[in-house]
Amino acid sequence: MRCYLDYNASAPMKEEVKEYVKQLVEVIGNPSSIHTNGRKSKNIIEISRKNIASILNCTANNIIFTSGATEANNLALSGYKNKIISSIEHESIKNQENTIRVNVDNDGYIDLDMLENVLKSLKNKYKNIISVMYANNETGIIQPIEKIKIISDLYNIPLHSDAVQVLGRLDIDFLKLGIDMITVSSHKIGGPSGAGALIVSSKKNILKPLLLGGQQEDSLRSGTEPLLSIAGFGHAARMINTKNIIKLKKLRNVFENKLKKAGLGIKIIAENSKRLPNTFMMYVPKIKAAELLMALDIEGFDVSTGSACSSGQAEPSSVLLHMGYSNIVASSVIRISLGEYNRNCEADKLIDSLKKIIKRFNRI
Ligand code: PMP
Repeated sequence: MRCYLDYNASAPMKEEVKEYVKQLVEVIGNPSSIHTNGRKSKNIIEISRKNIASILNCTANNIIFTSGATEANNLALSGYKNKIISSIEHESIKNQENTIRVNVDNDGYIDLDMLENVLKSLKNKYKNIISVMYANNETGIIQPIEKIKIISDLYNIPLHSDAVQVLGRLDIDFLKLGIDMITVSSHKIGGPSGAGALIVSSKKNILKPLLLGGQQEDSLRSGTEPLLSIAGFGHAARMINTKNIIKLKKLRNVFENKLKKAGLGIKIIAENSKRLPNTFMMYVPKIKAAELLMALDIEGFDVSTGSACSSGQAEPSSVLLHMGYSNIVASSVIRISLGEYNRNCEADKLIDSLKKIIKRFNRI
């Protein structure tokens, strides 16, 4: 049996979600149609919306369904000229036009003084938005969102946060946070891929729809809704149980402690920073991340490197470089992200395999 240790890339679909979605494959009807079948479909979407609203402590009206977080992030920033972002955002934010980047410190937190200085220097205050991820997908480091919110209020600039990796792993109270928008995604919480959402405090935010058409989602996201994906998303949100967060943290601590004590020179990145309960990045000396990933793959482990290596040429993790780590460390880090189907015994299996791999690499 393979060990899946890559929940931050995509979580396996929850068994309850599979069952729920299976029941719905027979449903016919476009949710925009007025006839009985259309209304049934619409109702399924609205149930999902309520489930997501309930877990985020917002109202159903705050939710705009999208195809995923990439689209939700693009939609959030669509109406704004300047985007003040942290230097470690996901590509869907980082690759936007007109970004002003704010550094992170060695512990992985955004530099709040620099953020404030950037806001101070802005000329036209109306077309600016701040977008800072709630927690980083590679390191799991949690940003001081409440403090960022205070600064954004001071300069009267809207605040968006990519909370994709946070949903299900920390409590999110959208109302209490009081920020303008957050992004969430279905396949990161054990729902199907193909659905995500932008949560907005008000639909009067300056949003420029990315798709024009049939005026679904209050004209903010036209196109027939992917019923099964949205339904599964809502059901996965309904299954979120805060008790599992404590279990996850215990499990992650077991992994980290065993790995550190294995005598392999493994170090946990930003161990003392405030981090998500399921994620850690580890530095394995003298082995390039891409090579270690492949060796672990052969041993039956699905893990991730810190960098995108779609071209086959793994680059050092840019997140770690921004945190001030050397090229050597940033090129030798592996991300482990855990979830509900992982068990303590997988930590021992991982260590046995790492011992084998490191021995082999040291001989080469
Ligand atoms: N933001 C973050 C922080 C992510 O980790 C990801 C997925 N890697 C995305 C956005 C994009 O999510 P989606 O796959 O739903 O487009």
